Amino acid sequence: MGTPIAVDHVLSVDDWMNGSAAAIEAEADHLTQLDSAIGDGDHGVNMTRGMRAVLAALAESEDGAAGKRLILAGKTLVSTVGGASGPLWGTALRRAGRALGDGQLDGPGLVAALDAALAGVQELGAAEPGDKTMVDALGPAVAALRERLDAGDALADAVAAAADAAEEGARATTPLQARKGRASYLGERSVGHQDPGATSTALIVRALGRALVPAS
Ligand code: ADP
Ligand code: MG
Repeated sequence: MGTPIAVDHVLSVDDWMNGSAAAIEAEADHLTQLDSAIGDGDHGVNMTRGMRAVLAALAESEDGAAGKRLILAGKTLVSTVGGASGPLWGTALRRAGRALGDGQLDGPGLVAALDAALAGVQELGAAEPGDKTMVDALGPAVAALRERLDAGDALADAVAAAADAAEEGARATTPLQARKGRASYLGERSVGHQDPGATSTALIVRALGRALVPAS
């Protein structure tokens, strides 16, 4: 006795999506500015429209299982976002939901889910690390999350470390030349700008930290 009892947490998919939507809306103009520099200037609009549709779809659904809710969120993004980010994030969330199955979104569940999400993005978009895409934020986030959980850290700390890694990964896209997506058409002129998709991905990973609820 006397030792503080660590509170176990799980993640609420709805809180995660709500937090992601709020963060993306707050940064929509910035995301659009980034996409205007190396793309077609629609990333803020695309992600805002997609996340609003996700919240509406979740509000309509009574299925409480985290995996099912992630799959619904993913399907909604695919069907409502025209740009590359819709199918990519949509696939990510669908794969995450499938990987989770009937399980809880606890530490191991989140690692499995985000691992599957990253694999889905890379299968669909064929981007490698360093290609200046969302992979450069999501990849380091998954690696940091796994490393911290393996080291025995609490989920809240591991999720914070994942978000730091995603933000650092997004910042590190600035000096890179884009090799995938619209920005790759610019060749060397894509150098010197932060990738919009990596930037929104860091917002979505950061929102995990606002979705922790005590495990029942
Ligand atoms: P679009 O490029 O169709 O206008 P968005 O502007 O919504 O779509 O999204 C652009 C973002 O999508 C890029 O900043 C990049 O992070 C991501 N992206 C584009 N192509 C790929 C790809 N093949 N693999 C991974 N991410 C990609
Ligand atoms: Mg765009």
